[in-house]
Parts: sequence; C-alpha cells; structure tokens
Amino acid sequence: MKFLKGQVVVITGGSRGIGRGIALRLASLGADIVFSYNKNKDAALKLESEIKALKVKGKSYCVDVKDFSKVKEWVADIKKDFGKIDILINNAGIIIDKALMMMTEDDWSQVIDTNLNGTFNVSRACIVDFLKAKKGNIINISSISGVIGLPRQVNYSASKGGMNAFTKALAKEVAAYGIRVNAIAPGFIETEMLSAMTDEQKNKINEIVPLGRIGRVEDVAGCVEFLLSDSAKYITGQIIKVDGGLAI
Ligand code: NDP
Repeated sequence: MKFLKGQVVVITGGSRGIGRGIALRLASLGADIVFSYNKNKDAALKLESEIKALKVKGKSYCVDVKDFSKVKEWVADIKKDFGKIDILINNAGIIIDKALMMMTEDDWSQVIDTNLNGTFNVSRACIVDFLKAKKGNIINISSISGVIGLPRQVNYSASKGGMNAFTKALAKEVAAYGIRVNAIAPGFIETEMLSAMTDEQKNKINEIVPLGRIGRVEDVAGCVEFLLSDSAKYITGQIIKVDGGLAI
C-alpha cells in the first residue's frame, strides 16, 4: 500500500516548478493533493488533471498567500472539501534580486510578505487543527540563501533565514503534540525562477556545485518524501540542504 494513501497534503504555489514536482511525487505515493497558485490558472488546471490521472483527489485554488484573511477562508474551504489536512508544504515564493542600493521598499515588502508572511499565514491557519488532532507535518521550502546569504538577495535571504528560524521555533513549540516541522533549503534548482540566468551563469554554477550540476525538482521532492516517511519520524526542527554540496 502507498504510504501516503488517505493523507491530505496542502502545497502552496503548486502550479509550477518545485511545488508541482512535490505535488506529483506525493500524489504518486497515494496522497490527495490540494494546492494553491497565484496567477497561472492554465498550469494549475493541467496539474490538477495530472494528479487525478494518478487516481487520487486533486484540487487547485487561486489564493495569494500574502493575504491573511483569504488564506484563512481557503483553509476553511479545504476542510469542507476534503474533511481534514494532514500535511502542509509552504512552498510559494518569489525573488526580486537587486543590490540593496537599488532595492525599493516594495521590492523588500513583496518578497518578505510572500515568502515569510505567507508561511506564517498558512501555518497559522492550519496549526489549531494539527494541535487538536495531535499530529501534523509541516515542511517549509526555504533556500540556502537564507543559510549562507547571497549578494543581491538581502530581501530573499532575510525571508528565507526567517523561514528557517520560524521552522526551529515552531518545531520546539509543537513537538509535544506530535507535530514535526522541518525546512528544506535547496541550492540552485532548474525552474522558471532561474529563467533570468544566462547559459554562461548556469555553467558557472555547474562548476562550483560539488556534485557538478544544477538541481532538479525531483531532488527536492525526494527529500520531501523522506521527511514525510516513517524513516524521518525522529527528525524535527531541521534545515536540510538539498544543494549538491554548494553550501559546504
Ligand atoms: P517558481 O517561480 O517556478 O514557482 C513559484 C510558485 O509559487 C508558483 O506556483 C506561483 O504561482 C507561486 N506563487 C508565487 N507567489 C505566490 C503568492 N503570492 N501566492 C500564492 N502562490 C504564489 O518557483 P520555484 O518552484 O523555483 O520555487 C519554489 C520555492 O522554492 C520558492 O519558495 C523558492 O524560493 C524556493 N527555492 C527555489 C530555488 C530555485 O533555484 N528554483 C532555490 C531555493 C529555493 P503562479 O504559477 O500562479 O505564479
């Protein structure tokens, strides 16, 4: 029997990239998948039908994770539609890369509001049910940028560093209730987020990554699978780098 059969997984930002890869992996393991997107309805509907083809339930919702009250309504709707939530993956995220001297207040706020406040908003909306059920699993997709810091990313590094600290604090707070909270900090992963990079820049990354290549969404999805499995039942509060060794 597939180990996630009957589990309801909520993924923010599932329409593309890493979130999409996680959705398909967990659906193939038997989970019912609920995911949000921001604008890309066509991509969301395509994923929804790919999930259903795996003989599990799949549903997309257009929800901006920045909006606390909309997120609260969304989680209430999920509970009506699916009956419960077992697993939350906070994945939605954006970059607006600029040197600090060029960064506007809006560049700063958009990134913090999406990546960090979005993580707070969805976790806050789910946590009471996890506490009542005395079980739950939260995985935050942060970034090595939040561990080592990267130039032209003070907004992004701060948001992801915040997610890492959030992960550790919440893990301690809720461990006694049987809830695990971990973060995955990917290095460079081939998605639309890297679309602004030239081939030359990508080749340079291949050279500096000890494992010799840019990561794939499957590399991150594999770590999510592990963290949700019984093999990880004694793991909480960790920031697991999936970066080919880049941050060593
Ligand atoms: P993509 O840009 O490919 O996809 C981003 C996803 O987030 C989309 O589904 C998008 O929806 C959704 N999204 C964006 N803003 C919002 C919002 N306000 N509300 C709801 N959903 C939103 O990114 P990746 O897949 O590359 O990144 C996923 C996560 O992984 C992010 O948190 C990112 O920071 C992190 N990460 C990525 C790395 C990489 O190299 N790719 C490296 C390290 C971390 P829509 O399709 O509607 O726009």
